[in-house]
Amino acid sequence: MKLKIKDVNFSYGSRPALESVTLSIKEGEIVSLVGPNGSGKTTLLKCINRILKLQKGTVLVEEKDISKLKLKELAKILSYVPQSVSHSLPSTVFEIVLIGRKPHLDWNVSSRDKEIVLNILSLMGLKEMVLRQSNELSGGEFQKVLIARALAQEPQVLLLDEPTSNLDLKHQLDVLNLITSIVKEKNIAAIMAMHDLNLASRFSDKMIFLNGGKIYDAGKPETVLTARNIRKVYGVEAIVNENAGYIHIIPIASVSEG
Ligand code: ADP
Ligand code: MG
Repeated sequence: MKLKIKDVNFSYGSRPALESVTLSIKEGEIVSLVGPNGSGKTTLLKCINRILKLQKGTVLVEEKDISKLKLKELAKILSYVPQSVSHSLPSTVFEIVLIGRKPHLDWNVSSRDKEIVLNILSLMGLKEMVLRQSNELSGGEFQKVLIARALAQEPQVLLLDEPTSNLDLKHQLDVLNLITSIVKEKNIAAIMAMHDLNLASRFSDKMIFLNGGKIYDAGKPETVLTARNIRKVYGVEAIVNENAGYIHIIPIASVSEG
């Protein structure tokens, strides 16, 4: 297993945000984390990344207990694409992606590090903007730069918080295809919080429905993406179709009863 989460709990003050979350992700697997706003997706990713400290439970990355690792050791095996980042100090695209190499550096940047960065920038279609300042990028371009940074880190486990929220149709597909090919080729694992259920189903080996900080259901997209689960978790009446081999959800109406 690349990632094992066991009985994780987290509360903000007295308000619980995660309760008894247990899941594991194998090598070569992409898992999407879905659920309504406030269901705990970001909190769970932040607990895995140690931005938030677990109040109960354990997280193992490659069988190593993250609470016992130095942050630099953790950063060698885990990378994280946050949901939003403020542009505090403008840096160039190249500099931001190079930061992804930081956990692997001793004191200088090797030609191999530069090569890895340039390769990722070219795979992400960002090569023309290497010298552009981050505050001169569109929201979608900046999101791709953050994904490139996480990939340059060459992690064993990749955490992505709504990685396609700012991307147009083509870039959603390109980015998720690239992530898929990297996960499969390098046999790493990815977990991504997603809002678009159609897109999530297409690119995930497994989907986890979070509801009120608890896992409501988990499994293969074709098994868990049911009208019943969508009604219970999102409070939305939906039609679940299959179209040309793809699952297609059509939301119809909000429902008040859960
Ligand atoms: P999601 O990513 O699924 O939208 P979050 O993990 O961001 O959900 O939030 C889970 C719950 O925790 C929500 O009820 C949210 O209001 C609460 N929450 C998130 N961040 C904080 C915070 N910094 N302080 C207090 N409560 C928070
Ligand atoms: Mg979130």
